[in-house]
Order: sequence, then structure tokens, then C-alpha cells
Amino acid sequence: MAATNGNGTGNGAPLVVFDFDKTIVDCDSDNWVVDALGATRRFDDLLRHLPWNHAIDAMMGELHSDGKTAEDIRGSLRTAPLSPHVAAAIKAAYALGCELRVLSDANAFFIDTILAHHGLAAYFSGTDTNPAHVDAAGRLRIRPYHDFGAAGHGCTLPTCPPNMCKGKVMERILRQEEEEEEEEAVSAAAGTEKRRRRRRAVVYLGDGRGDYCPSLKLREGDYVMPRAGHPVCDLIAASPPAAAVRGWAGFEDLARVLLGIVDGEIARAAAAAEEEDAGAGAGVGVGAVVVVPADCRAPRQEALMPQAVRVPN
Ligand SMILES: [Mg+2]
Repeated sequence: MAATNGNGTGNGAPLVVFDFDKTIVDCDSDNWVVDALGATRRFDDLLRHLPWNHAIDAMMGELHSDGKTAEDIRGSLRTAPLSPHVAAAIKAAYALGCELRVLSDANAFFIDTILAHHGLAAYFSGTDTNPAHVDAAGRLRIRPYHDFGAAGHGCTLPTCPPNMCKGKVMERILRQEEEEEEEEAVSAAAGTEKRRRRRRAVVYLGDGRGDYCPSLKLREGDYVMPRAGHPVCDLIAASPPAAAVRGWAGFEDLARVLLGIVDGEIARAAAAAEEEDAGAGAGVGVGAVVVVPADCRAPRQEALMPQAVRVPN
């Protein structure tokens, strides 16, 4: 996939994929808007007979009928809590060469509004979420990511809602990563590259039940960062993925754990390149990652990685 910033070009910095609600923002953005616009009880009523994704679209219709504008919705989104530690982590990971993406069951209107408000939009190369647009009448429409057609999204995990299987999206992201690796291998064989690029790691951060499926798709050498005390932790603890598990508790901790992984991956890639240059043999030590057992109850101070703290006050 194309990184808008030229990041992901081979220094070993991982691809970092963020969930949005309760991971980038410290709230559920749907509930935040509904509460801010005084429609909590009506949203609860809609949820009694509609799937969540349809209910939030219907809620936007009711708010439009009440005279609430798209700008009113934007205004409420601008007040959603986003920790300065998260903003600093995003900027620092980007500066270190990471490509960043969002994978969320919120919607494009909410995510774009919040990232733009905090000056963070340009740090991300792409967002996979439920599409949204303001129609000709000024009403915000929110659509499911996957069609609800006869087949649905085809994932049978009960933790995936009908409108979005994040695991399917993660599979697509990983396929694209592999295609890029194959292209690089071909150009290396043709003598246009000095060496084949080592596969970069993928890091996935999330908190909810829907974040379990994409965590399972990650490979050995990747990392999942579950938010401590949230539903994805119990699921990961019960049946851990192949990826290394690095829990985080609070946003300062998110920054510390994420940047520790990034620093470690860059150092590992540099060491592998040096080893290759020294003719020490192909592939020795490349891609080997110690898998840390799932433990979401307490953030860990891993001795495995440099614990650089890059978050300014
Ligand atoms: Mg979430």
C-alpha cells in the first residue's frame, strides 16, 4: 500500500494499525456524539431493534429531523477526549519511519473530523472503516463496511459484528504486505536492490471484542497491543494469537510500549543488515521474535526491548 509520507521504506519500522474508539480517542465516538446531542435514550431505543451500525445511521437521521446539522456533529466530535500521549506516540512513531493506519468500526466522518481537529490526519496512510457522507439534504449517512447481503462477510467468529469483520481487513493488509515483499524480492534478484528487505512487523492496537479477529490474523513476528481491562484482553488470554502480546494500561503506557516495539524492530533490522554485510550467513536471527505470554492485567517492563520514553510533557 502507498505510504503518503514515504515511510515503510525499509529501516525495519513496523506498520502500525490502530483501532480508533477507546484506543486513539478515550471514548466510544458514537456514544460521545449521541450523548453530547442529548439523544442517549432515543439511541438506546433504536438499539433494541436495530444492529448498532444501522442504529447509529438511523440516529443521525433523527438528529437531522430535529434540526441538528453536520456542523453540530463535528462540534461534538471536537470535544471527544484524545490524550496528548496518544498524539505524541503517533507523531514519534511516524518520525521513526512507521507507516500508520486506522482500522475501526466507527465511521469515516467521525474519524476524519477528530484526526483533523488534532492535526493528526496526515500521519496516517489510510483508514478502513464504515463509509459515511453528508447527503444533499445535509443528513449524515453511515453505511456498513461489508454489505449485509446473503453471504455477509463470511467470518463465523461471534466477536465480529455483521457490518465489519476487522480480521478480513487485516488479511487484506497482510496480503498487500506480502505482495510488496515479493516485488522487492524480484527487484533484488534483478540486481536493482542490494538485498531483499526483511519483512516488516505489523503492530495492532485495540480494546474491544471486534479487535480479537484481526489479532488472530497476525503472524509470528508481529505484535498485538490489547488495552488492559478491556474485552479483547479476556479473549486473547483465553486463546492467544501467534503474534507477541504487549498489553498497555493508559495512554502514557500505550506510547511507551509502542515506541519500545518500534525501537526494537529498527534495531533488529539494523543488526540483521550488519550481519548480512559481514557475510555471516543468510537469515540468521532474522524474524525471530520472543512471544510474550498474554497478560492484560499489568503492563510489563520488558527487558527485551529498549524502553525509550519519547513522550514530551
Ligand atoms: Mg475500540
